[in-house]
Amino acid sequence: MTKQGIINNSTVDPNKILPMRYMWARQHYKDGVANNWTPEEVSMQQDVEHWKSNDVLSANERRLILWNLGFFSTAESLTANNLILSVYQHVTNPECRQYILRQAYEEAVHTDTFIYCCDSLGLDPDEIYNMYETIPSIKEKDNFVVNLTKSLMDPYFKTDTTENIQQFIHDLIGYYVIMEGIFFYAGFAMMLALKRQGKMIGIGEQFEYIMRDESIHLAFGCDLINTIIEENPEIWTEDFKQKVVGLIKEAVILEQQYAHDACPQGMLAINAKQFSDYVEYIADRRLERINLPKVYGKPNPFPWMSQATDLSKEKNFFETRVTEYQTAGSLEWGD
Ligand code: FE
Ligand code: MN
Repeated sequence: MTKQGIINNSTVDPNKILPMRYMWARQHYKDGVANNWTPEEVSMQQDVEHWKSNDVLSANERRLILWNLGFFSTAESLTANNLILSVYQHVTNPECRQYILRQAYEEAVHTDTFIYCCDSLGLDPDEIYNMYETIPSIKEKDNFVVNLTKSLMDPYFKTDTTENIQQFIHDLIGYYVIMEGIFFYAGFAMMLALKRQGKMIGIGEQFEYIMRDESIHLAFGCDLINTIIEENPEIWTEDFKQKVVGLIKEAVILEQQYAHDACPQGMLAINAKQFSDYVEYIADRRLERINLPKVYGKPNPFPWMSQATDLSKEKNFFETRVTEYQTAGSLEWGD
């Protein structure tokens, strides 16, 4: 077992951030700060009009919006709690902790975003904040993650043996790769697809900001996972790799069920089949990011999604609409 690595490093003083060793953690911190935003910067006025009007949104579109608010409203708190109560405890490296603190703040901003959305649309909080109990396709995703990350929540858990380091990696994959990297992405695609049609563009813009934050959370998580594996290569056995691939396949099925449930009928240029394909495309990207072979080989049905993640905040504010107008004539969505 590595003595001087990112975990189990008895020489680390968590209060001494300089000199730094893992510069990727520092870079993710800076990238997070560069994306700073708050939900109140985004006007909800048009969304309120769309929501109250009888002829802007179809019943199917309303369902899709509610299913996404229902999932994300509690999922953001679930990730924040997991992060602070468990991941933080086991990662003592100071530059990683600095990033985790930044991430925790961003999760608070995301939680605040859904408060803002519920307030401005006048939604019933009891309905929205109970959807993770009452809607089976949402509940199954949350339960899957809670079960996957159990050992992180065990106060006596230690990363002191090969088996326990594997368990730790397993849980980090559950948290970063599956929750933040797969379970968020059908929802992002749905709300951004609506925005591209000019519907609920305030919420759509907030989802863009959240997605940009989440893409850094995911990048940090993967760098953390890959570094632990690099420093403890004995854990990365063929059996364990197969186990990880199996978990990701299970997660893909749950996310596809959720997509079908949120979008059962299909609507103008959007249908559950495309979201399912997108989830498979995304899962392949996640597998590759942690050095595992891809499973699905699906092309990206929504090339505009990567564009939305890659844009810097300034570009997003001033240029996305221009880009969207430019590409509006060449939409290739079938149904
Ligand atoms: Fe978040
Ligand atoms: Mn996150």
